[in-house]
Amino acid sequence: MDSSAAAGFDPGVVTRFAPSPTGELHLGNARTALFNYLLARRAGGRFLLRIEDTDAQRSQESHLAAVLEDLRWLRLDWNAGPDREDGRGPYRQSQRGALYAGFSEALERQEAVYPCFCTPLELEAARRAQLGSGRPPRYTGTCRALSQEQRRGKREQGLSATMRFRVPTGKRIEFVDLVHGPQSFLSDDIGDFVIRRADGTAAFFFSNAIDDAEMGVTHVLRGEDHLANTPRQLLILEALGLRQPRYGHVSLILGADGAPLSKRHGATSVREYRDSGYRAEALVNHLFRLGHSSGEHGLLDLEAMAQAFDPAHLGRASAHFDAQQLRAWQKEAVHRLPMDEARAWLAASLPAGLGESATDAFVAAVLPNVVLPEDARPWERIIFGPPPALEPEGESIVRKAGNGFFAAAAQAAATSGSDLAAIASAVRAATGKKGAELYMPLRLALTGRGHGPELAPLLKAMPAGQAQLRLARFA
Ligand code: GLU
Repeated sequence: MDSSAAAGFDPGVVTRFAPSPTGELHLGNARTALFNYLLARRAGGRFLLRIEDTDAQRSQESHLAAVLEDLRWLRLDWNAGPDREDGRGPYRQSQRGALYAGFSEALERQEAVYPCFCTPLELEAARRAQLGSGRPPRYTGTCRALSQEQRRGKREQGLSATMRFRVPTGKRIEFVDLVHGPQSFLSDDIGDFVIRRADGTAAFFFSNAIDDAEMGVTHVLRGEDHLANTPRQLLILEALGLRQPRYGHVSLILGADGAPLSKRHGATSVREYRDSGYRAEALVNHLFRLGHSSGEHGLLDLEAMAQAFDPAHLGRASAHFDAQQLRAWQKEAVHRLPMDEARAWLAASLPAGLGESATDAFVAAVLPNVVLPEDARPWERIIFGPPPALEPEGESIVRKAGNGFFAAAAQAAATSGSDLAAIASAVRAATGKKGAELYMPLRLALTGRGHGPELAPLLKAMPAGQAQLRLARFA
């Protein structure tokens, strides 16, 4: 199957996102989740969520809960996962120890793995020696050929053992990466690697590969940092006679300066963007374009993204996260918000106890001019607070318009309520002013500012009597 076929309709496609719950959901991981979600949706297949929590020390329940919440917020719904078991789980690696032990024993019986008694200190010394003589560090094979008797002896001394995979010699491991194309590795370049730690828990290479096979995963899109792991995982699956998924290794996300995206670039987790009011649609639209090219422009929903997603269009070059681009998507997402969602989104910037129609009038007035909820706060003060003071420049424009201008405006406001057209035509009739000469003094007197959201809806959002009061100040 070539990579473009991987994007076509095929309900047999199963993808997964496999986070380790050791911290907040990073943008890079969110993009990995998105791509796997889209690949499954595009094919009409299934998207799984598997939690890789074998590192008991670093994995925390609170992180797990946060990851699920963030994925839900992004609307990357999974067909099966730790909260939605389907008989092919459990979907938490910490609950799959017996399965890994069984496969490890199967490998032991066929002598595809062997116990290794080398201590971390010995391994480190060997590593340094290799690096010192300019060789790539890999396991030297000390325990590879121990006899049963030697192994027993070591165990009797109380030494604990890891289990190492016996990498076959002189073998070429080849696969076609969905992003990087044909890959070829020499087994002799791969040292025998640990599949089971000394404490009996499964190592990443092992549990990750077993789970993909056992859960029926057909396509794995994951970070490029895992590319070198793939030949090892293929060897494990081959030794066990398990099905190998197709792998695609996605380039890393870099900051604007070309360094891998990290804290020093500012917010890097989904949670941080969410907390500051970014919309999931905006974030997902930016992530969709990071390293994936498509002819689709404009804000897409997940369904449209799935139709446009093709692993063959995943680039090999690193993608740059661009805060300005994200802001542009955010603007678009905000402008499209239906009223009920906009109201909820701006909730923290609304005055307490505001009635429903007043809330809607305020939201309708400011929404076109805000990117984040905090942008609405100054307008909340302007509209619901005391009549705003003017800067000297604004003050002089207002004075120049004259008392008659504002007497006519205030009177029209008193009779028409908050109708800008009525106020403007009364002033026009009284003074003959039009255009900016008409509207700028009105805007300044009403809002204290020379720019901002459209004036007519702002007026509608003002509490009754406010417009007249503000205009009458200059009459
Ligand atoms: N838990 C691994 C990670 O978060 C998963 C790698 C994979 O997707 O295979 O990096």
